[in-house]
Amino acid sequence: MSSAPVIVWLRNDFRLRDHPALNAAVAAGSPVIPLYILDDETPGQWALGGASRWWLGKTIEAFARDIAARGGKLILRRGAVARELARVVEETGATAVYFMRGYEPSVAALEDQLKLAFDDMGVAFKRYGGRLLRTPEETRTKAGGAYQVFTPFWRAFTKDLTLPRALAAPDRIKAPSRTPKSDDLRDWQLSPSKPDWSRGLAKAWQPGESGARARLAEFTKTGLATYAIDRNQLDRDGTSRLSPHLAFGEISPAACWRAAADAARGKSANDQSIETFMRELVWREFSYSLLFHFPKLPEEPLRREFAEFPWLGDAGQLKAWQRGKTGYPIVDAGMRELWATGYMHNRARMIVASFLVKHLLIPWTAGEACFWDTLVDADLANNSASWQWVAGCGADAAPYFRIFNPVLQGEKFDPNGDYVRRWVPELAGLTADAIHKPWTAKPESLAQAGVVLGKSYPRPLVEHAYARVRALQAYEQIKATP
Ligand code: FAD
Repeated sequence: MSSAPVIVWLRNDFRLRDHPALNAAVAAGSPVIPLYILDDETPGQWALGGASRWWLGKTIEAFARDIAARGGKLILRRGAVARELARVVEETGATAVYFMRGYEPSVAALEDQLKLAFDDMGVAFKRYGGRLLRTPEETRTKAGGAYQVFTPFWRAFTKDLTLPRALAAPDRIKAPSRTPKSDDLRDWQLSPSKPDWSRGLAKAWQPGESGARARLAEFTKTGLATYAIDRNQLDRDGTSRLSPHLAFGEISPAACWRAAADAARGKSANDQSIETFMRELVWREFSYSLLFHFPKLPEEPLRREFAEFPWLGDAGQLKAWQRGKTGYPIVDAGMRELWATGYMHNRARMIVASFLVKHLLIPWTAGEACFWDTLVDADLANNSASWQWVAGCGADAAPYFRIFNPVLQGEKFDPNGDYVRRWVPELAGLTADAIHKPWTAKPESLAQAGVVLGKSYPRPLVEHAYARVRALQAYEQIKATP
């Protein structure tokens, strides 16, 4: 057993349980240096958005405490990863770098580059899985390519699926005799100030592994049983809200899958709800598979003809959409939930995204960028695959010609208008039959509810029937493109 330390290089994997790289490093018996590097200088990567930066700061605080409770110390550095990692290796004489594999294109390229550099330096570079249930290489079509349709992907993925072994948190993390210097997290200024818009986020979430585990436990106890029915309802708390915890690796997808499988064995939830939840976890894997096979997924449409789409891209309308002022209550409620909490219900995401792309003819990449900045669960694979899905230009996508009617969507998934009342309080006094279409309400109903259209709440940016025809005409143009 050597006294030279090894490094555990952390990215979005802020957990002690189910962490194969940390587990292997501790098992090797050498002192361990857990290291996180904030790289906000290397171009060509998707720099963290504002909401993700806030979450990152909180999860690092929690993780540093968890590590310290086991005798270790989390080291923080800032700068280009390749440079900082090599520096810490040199300063400490570390003999190995353990890490969990990432799948974003810039990250995968960096890992290849680091492997060559560390091989040259004689430093072991040890890569582990754990971020996904299965690697993208494992689920390929018979021809060896990527699945572009979800159902066959799901079938192939779940066939002979063996979960990675559950790993307990290490009891002790042996610190080296001399700890390398670390940045002070406060100097990174990850939380916003002037203005501090993070209060709603702090109220809504508990970043960190214990918050993640508590969320999973709560969901399996109270939400999983009715998940298949409730997950689409905007007025119910029917989904797990595990997405930011999964995005930051505070809980493993395997732990989520195991919790659902345990519920199936214990019959505490019906089979349909359990399978539906598992399917959503596999949608996440599907997104990663797409990103892996199509590294340009965040920037370019998978269906080539969409590169020629005649977008309008009105900047004023984009701003109105971002601020939740489109005049369509269900769209505005979704966008305001996002601003207030850093999260939006999946059904609302589909509605607001469709509205942006099809009613306003604003490129999906503008919506993708806005979500990237504002979502606490911003995830390159899920975000880009989902935007392409809604825009009709992605894999297994909702066909472009299927255009959501925001009024009908509201009436179906928020029948009493409770979701709208919560996030668009200026409409709270309207009755259920008017709340999703205030412009149809009688003047006396509007007056009674204190709503002045065009003043206290905007009129619709665009009329639905007109926007629908316009979108279909735009689509005809690219369909005609040879
Ligand atoms: P649950 O319904 O409880 O699902 C459990 C888990 O399964 C989620 O935490 C998530 O990891 C995964 N999952 C669920 N739905 C999907 C889906 N459609 N695609 C891929 N994985 C899914 N999800 C993100 O994690 N990050 C994003 O940046 C993101 N951007 C999106 C953008 C658009 C336009 C749309 C339509 C969807 C986006 N999603 C994204 C997918 C989905 O909306 C969220 O994963 C989900 O709402 C998270 O809530 P939850 O944890 O309660 O989900």
